[in-house]
Amino acid sequence: MKKSTLEKIKKNLMERKEQIETELASFTQKDDHIKDNYRSKFPDFGDKEDENANEIAGYTDNLSVEYSLEKTLRDINKALDRIEKGTYGKCNYCGQQISEQRLLARPVSSACIECKEKLTSQ
Ligand SMILES: [Zn+2]
Repeated sequence: MKKSTLEKIKKNLMERKEQIETELASFTQKDDHIKDNYRSKFPDFGDKEDENANEIAGYTDNLSVEYSLEKTLRDINKALDRIEKGTYGKCNYCGQQISEQRLLARPVSSACIECKEKLTSQ
């Protein structure tokens, strides 16, 4: 892979990482003792019964958004890690080079299309 392509992907990953961290920070509290650990804040709408129900619904929504953002963040960090180690772009399963087109479309990919298809059809 060309160095300029890798730089482009790295920049893209860093930008997404920042976006996700900002989004997570808007409704979670970060636990600084544990890396990449976020906790959804419990919303406080009020003390009435329907307000309490809304709080719980809001909290549950936050949790599911939190989990999916955290998962994406982990994938991004893993991809950045692979860039640092110089193993970026290799398929985790067969070791073949993943196509640049696929990496540009989905920079966190860790499997080539053939392996991905095998994995998802199982
Ligand atoms: Zn593969």
